[in-house]
Amino acid sequence: MARRVRTVRDLDVWERRVLVRVDYNVPLKDGRVLDDTRIRASVDTIHWLLDQRARVILCTHLGRPKGQVREELRLGPVAAALSAIVGRSVRYVRDIIGPEAQEMARRLQPGEIGLLENVRFDPREEQNDPEFAAALAALAERYVNDAFGAAHRAHASVVGVAKQLPSAAGFLMEREVQALQRVLESVEQPFVVVLGGAKISDKIGVIENLLPRADALLLGGGMANTFLRAQGLETGRSLVEEDKVDEARRLLVAAAQRGVRVELPVDVVVAPALSAVNERRVVAVTAIPPEQAVYDIGPETVQRYASVIREARLLVWNGPMGVYEVPEFREGTRGVAEAVAACAGFTLVGGGDSVAALQELELADRVSHLSTGGGATLEFLEGRELPGVAILMEESR
Ligand code: ADP
Ligand code: MG
Repeated sequence: MARRVRTVRDLDVWERRVLVRVDYNVPLKDGRVLDDTRIRASVDTIHWLLDQRARVILCTHLGRPKGQVREELRLGPVAAALSAIVGRSVRYVRDIIGPEAQEMARRLQPGEIGLLENVRFDPREEQNDPEFAAALAALAERYVNDAFGAAHRAHASVVGVAKQLPSAAGFLMEREVQALQRVLESVEQPFVVVLGGAKISDKIGVIENLLPRADALLLGGGMANTFLRAQGLETGRSLVEEDKVDEARRLLVAAAQRGVRVELPVDVVVAPALSAVNERRVVAVTAIPPEQAVYDIGPETVQRYASVIREARLLVWNGPMGVYEVPEFREGTRGVAEAVAACAGFTLVGGGDSVAALQELELADRVSHLSTGGGATLEFLEGRELPGVAILMEESR
């Protein structure tokens, strides 16, 4: 039986107090929100709840205050940004579970929004302390989790409180789980997996989990260097994980045994240093100069990868193809991103830098699903059960 998360549609929220865990971990500067994407992403769920005349109590973390009150990480600026976006006043309290928070929750009327203080100001949040979770739960009658980016954390506001109240996923969480499940179940073929990024050690779990179902694996980024080395090629000063060369060889053998088509770069962009952009040039992977490093995949590789990507019915991509932060080394990532954007199949792109690269290239809205979970997305792709998702699964309650 297919597992699915319970959603807000399954929850009776009429005029109820609903605690909503959101991910408002936004960048702040000079008391203002620099990028409100995450706040905007939550309004579908909030509006739906307000339409049900719910009393919405929002809870988020911001930054890493490590269990202490940090003035610069208070949620005042977030409350102001949220209020402007939803066009209503937001009752923000500088308190999480204490008397001020309780008073706010008690007074909140149907259709009103409250916002609790940064939940990580209390050390018991990250400890998943049962009493802290109980105090959070006592503020409301229902719990909704729309913070996919925190779903891999077994924290009080993610897991503890969900055990104590009738709970469900918000729309953002639901979309993430559905899209990622679709990739893991991979019934559509060809299923193409594109992996890049800095280090193979971050991605071994993803490769191992997707290999049994993948038809093709296209590798780029720094991690491809370790695979090139596993094939006996010279990689100069490129980023290579020496202690993972055997692991790379093992993965290549495992892929071959399963009949998975593995593509490594055939040409690369090299330079003497990251800053020496004007000295960059394209070379064959068999001719990487000893004093230079690989910073991007080359144009022929992009062509080859694009032709595989074009045929995909299902595609997942994590990890930029090169050092995309430097415009001169962004072309490989751009070429792959354009191919993914043009692919008619279901395309999922995830990972912090991958999402940033796609946004930078203005192609973020051209993929079927942009998974913004960062670490949560990667853990999901590794096949790990995320505690914040598991607790919302239909059969778990
Ligand atoms: P994501 O956050 O999407 O999971 P990663 O964090 O694994 O992606 O990888 C992104 C990082 O990989 C970027 O900072 C990028 O500069 C780096 N990177 C990509 N290609 C190379 C390369 N050839 N050499 C060094 N670093 C690279
Ligand atoms: Mg990253």
